[in-house]
Amino acid sequence: MLESVLIANRGEIACRIIRTAKRLGIRTIAVYSEADADALFVRMADEAHPIGPPPARESYLQIDRIIEVAKASRAASIHPGYGFLSERAEFAEACLKNGIAFIGPPPAAIRAMGLKDAAKALVQKANVPVVPGYHGAKQEPDFLRQKAYEIGYPVLIKAVAGGGGKGMRRVDKAADFDAALESAQREAQSAFGDPRVLVEKYILSPRHVEIQVFADRHGNVVHLFERDCSLQRRHQKVIEEAPAPGMTPEMRAIMGNAAVEAARAVGYVGAGTVEFIADGREGLRPDRFYFMEMNTRLQVEHPVTEAITGLDLVELQFRAASGEPLTFQQDDLTIKGHAVEARLYAEDPERDFLPSTGKLWALEFPEGEGIRIDTGVQAGDTVTPFYDPMIAKIIAHGTTRDEALDRLAAALEHTIVAGPKTNVAFLKNLCEAKEFRTGPFDTGFIDRNLQALGAVPQPVDLQAAIYGLTELVGSEVLRLSRLQKANLNLPLRRSPWAALDGFLLSGHWRRGIRAVVNGETVDGVMEWLPDSAALFKGKSAIGLGPIAPSSEYSDWWEKAFEANWLDPYAAPTRAPELGVTIVAAGKKATPQDEMLVLRNGRQTSVRMFDPFDVDLEHMDAGSAVKAPMHGKLIALFVKPGDIVEKGQRLAIVEAMKMEHPLVAPLSGEIAEVLAEEGAQVAEGARLISLKVDE
Ligand code: ADP
Ligand code: ADP
Ligand code: MG
Repeated sequence: MLESVLIANRGEIACRIIRTAKRLGIRTIAVYSEADADALFVRMADEAHPIGPPPARESYLQIDRIIEVAKASRAASIHPGYGFLSERAEFAEACLKNGIAFIGPPPAAIRAMGLKDAAKALVQKANVPVVPGYHGAKQEPDFLRQKAYEIGYPVLIKAVAGGGGKGMRRVDKAADFDAALESAQREAQSAFGDPRVLVEKYILSPRHVEIQVFADRHGNVVHLFERDCSLQRRHQKVIEEAPAPGMTPEMRAIMGNAAVEAARAVGYVGAGTVEFIADGREGLRPDRFYFMEMNTRLQVEHPVTEAITGLDLVELQFRAASGEPLTFQQDDLTIKGHAVEARLYAEDPERDFLPSTGKLWALEFPEGEGIRIDTGVQAGDTVTPFYDPMIAKIIAHGTTRDEALDRLAAALEHTIVAGPKTNVAFLKNLCEAKEFRTGPFDTGFIDRNLQALGAVPQPVDLQAAIYGLTELVGSEVLRLSRLQKANLNLPLRRSPWAALDGFLLSGHWRRGIRAVVNGETVDGVMEWLPDSAALFKGKSAIGLGPIAPSSEYSDWWEKAFEANWLDPYAAPTRAPELGVTIVAAGKKATPQDEMLVLRNGRQTSVRMFDPFDVDLEHMDAGSAVKAPMHGKLIALFVKPGDIVEKGQRLAIVEAMKMEHPLVAPLSGEIAEVLAEEGAQVAEGARLISLKVDE
């Protein structure tokens, strides 16, 4: 077995690799960027070395720097994880040249599968069916448009160097082709440094079904069955499962065999995935699946395969890299039960899945039968804008598909994340969606059901706001009571009517408050009645608040005071009977602190209005266009003096692997452009200002 491994990656996959390495007694070496100095994977590794500034191209993509660290720490091997350098043949070559085992296939295999056009041509020779289309060298727009016409719309334009769903555009009619081509090429150039594309038939009712393959260095190749990754958004996987619903043993054997042939055709070694697209209009049929690409690395969703086979794929990778032959053959493998994985992201489904960053004030995952959590962060860590916004993968295994999905839904329901917005409610809705549970579904399922899945703007959760306000007022009262105790040696009071009993002449305590709920100012009255109930009546922009209390609620409220809000990262206050969890976002619970109220998987932020906290920068809200997040201004379409229409595209900011178009909030004239194309921009920075038509 290998003596040591350097993990050229970060986050959850680095943690995942370290876990298996430790179990096998392999010394673990982490490398990290400045942004990750305190990250969980750095803490978990036996040793860790800095490799550069936060942007990946200055750290995790620095081949020379990583090899240098590997040599200095005498690493016997390098595991690239997924993403970053995992599919860069030069990196695998650099490892081998320096006598370090690369945990992955030979450079030639990476190269052969690296470009989608060449890969298609290659596997076609091995009699693997491919999607019909043009995957030649010519790139002239007129020529490609002609090809699209010959293939027949709808077509898909794909970056030949593509990955992660980038540089890909579906085109439904000729009139849209040129614009789609231009943007696909631009995205491909920026993401992969290669603008070339291919054009292929867009398969109708597409199902993404992929086969996990594994090969040793002695010519043995097996497949570990399929995964269905059809629940996608923007061509990126959201939920993956194994086995694929509707898969028959015959079709599995045919697909598995095609994948093994594709792997053999390139002399593959280690773990790899052959991705197919199946035309699902009449269910899965052996004559209707086509090769898309091969990912020559460990895949994000490998845990579902581990769950149904009982194998540890990272262990198998280590064994293959140390030259051990496979200890089993195809016929020894069987499928046990069903497994599903959900990717928990820091993003806001209610705002078009805009990535969300910031400190994780609370992060808790449930334990349960058949539940596995793969994460790279802990409470107190920060989701930064530099890398993929995945917080965790939640994997559920059961004897049947329904059981696995029920377990996943329950696990999502009991997952607590406060700080960044997440897709947890969206994922839970997906697990419970009837069509996904029972019916035919395809890669368009999410887009067709955004409304039902809750991925549209929704009204403020007033009930949650009330709970948060109660906590805020309560923490203020508690502090007051503590002061009294300190100064007057009075007993510690836990509730306002107790602490303020001198004021409770009329039998209830009432106070006008101005709060800020999800950034909007709300005026209301808060009341405590003699039966110790709390009310909030709001008469404001967000309307009249419901009346909260029940006797259960007041019990809970009493208990809430026992939580010690003066601790940083104090444990969240929980009221399971009300379905809420309240987390203080701030070092000390002062009245100006923010309370994050989690309810039904949504997060509502509440704080008291602070008259001294006027934000001059943001006073011109309507006429300024600001960066929605930290990122890079990759395109600017306007200059001062231009007349624009409301909704017109003004610029594109790229952040967290996605392009975010910025549009004119109003019609008017461009007054100022405050950033240059190519500049790094900070969240909230004013980029463009408009002179608005009167
Ligand atoms: P997979 O094909 O393994 O399921 P995806 O298709 O979702 O993965 O992602 C494609 C690519 O996006 C990955 O190969 C990797 O380059 C990148 N990626 C996804 N998640 C992460 C992450 N957490 N850290 C770094 N890169 C990532
Ligand atoms: P990437 O390298 O970005 O993973 P893929 O070629 O694997 O690119 O495609 C990503 C996703 O796009 C697939 O999972 C599938 O949902 C969709 N897709 C790709 N090719 C087609 C096609 N020809 N027809 C329909 N959908 C497709
Ligand atoms: Mg793919």
